[in-house]
Amino acid sequence: MSIWICKTCGAHFAPSDVCPSRCLICEDERQYVPEVGQQWIAREALAATHANEWSELEPGLTGISVVPDVGIGQRTLLLQSPHGNVLWDCTAMLDGKTRDRIQELGGLKAICLSHPHFYTGMVEWSEALGGVPILLHESDLAYVQRPSELITPWQGDRLEVLPGIALHRLGGHFDGSSVLEWRAGADGKGVLLVGDTIHVVADRRWVSFMYSFPNVIPLPAREVRRIADRAAALHFDRIYGPWKEKFIPAGAKESVARSAERYIRLLES
Ligand SMILES: [Zn+2]
Ligand SMILES: [Zn+2]
Repeated sequence: MSIWICKTCGAHFAPSDVCPSRCLICEDERQYVPEVGQQWIAREALAATHANEWSELEPGLTGISVVPDVGIGQRTLLLQSPHGNVLWDCTAMLDGKTRDRIQELGGLKAICLSHPHFYTGMVEWSEALGGVPILLHESDLAYVQRPSELITPWQGDRLEVLPGIALHRLGGHFDGSSVLEWRAGADGKGVLLVGDTIHVVADRRWVSFMYSFPNVIPLPAREVRRIADRAAALHFDRIYGPWKEKFIPAGAKESVARSAERYIRLLES
């Protein structure tokens, strides 16, 4: 039996002798099935040809990605705090060195997911790191393709994961799309880890909000307004997106407010 992984989105599937026939995440209108059709790779084959790469982002925050890229090139963020460590979002592969290094740093208290495009290898990461709870919003449970008792759905709009570290469901991209607020980040000015909920664009003074990025489907004005209103109440000055160039070092709260205003103005003009 193998764990099969969707090559397009990096999602893991329940163990099976044969590869799956479809991937719900890719068939959803926010993603796509490539023209050559859905393709799969077994976990062992992936592990034999790929490795994790670490990069320090700021004190207490490290990016971990898979090289070469798998799926959409997801990166996971390891957040270290005096109350324990949390993993934000996930990648399709965890190598032994990374597992050992995280354990040396004190292990994890939880794995927090922004939305299904980052579910990838969440069950593998949790199992390898002591079976820590996988916190994902219950609204998106239908997209879980490798069920596990470690998955701990949460409800509502806010969940304090550890002191000073909270999940906020802002919605938009997915019903359960969430961000992680880290109040001590950026020297106490606050950091927001955003997944695809808030998207740092090419001009890094700005962000955007989309229902689908690959298929370029916008969100309604009321959703953008709601996301911006919720974000305005959070404590942050810096944003880290899923890839290294998706980064606003300072003034990020103003960027979100200004960008939402521009987006809504264009939709409604
Ligand atoms: Zn997929
Ligand atoms: Zn996404």
